[in-house]
Amino acid sequence: MSQDDTPKPEFAATPADQQPLRPARPCPNCGKMSVADSYPFCSKRCRMVDLNRWLTGAYAIPVVEDDQDDDEV
Ligand SMILES: [Zn+2]
Repeated sequence: MSQDDTPKPEFAATPADQQPLRPARPCPNCGKMSVADSYPFCSKRCRMVDLNRWLTGAYAIPVVEDDQDDDEV
């Protein structure tokens, strides 16, 4: 018998749970608070923007990815 095997239906990922040790710091791209998922950026989109900036060597047009994780709490 293993009743503990049951997966939790909806696991609400709390910000505190996603930030183990790193302190929240402003996103280098837009200045929003970063999240652990895309640290040190506030979102994957900003990370892509920064990456694109490095690749092109200049300020490029922000790439708009499918940003599912809404960083506006
Ligand atoms: Zn950002």
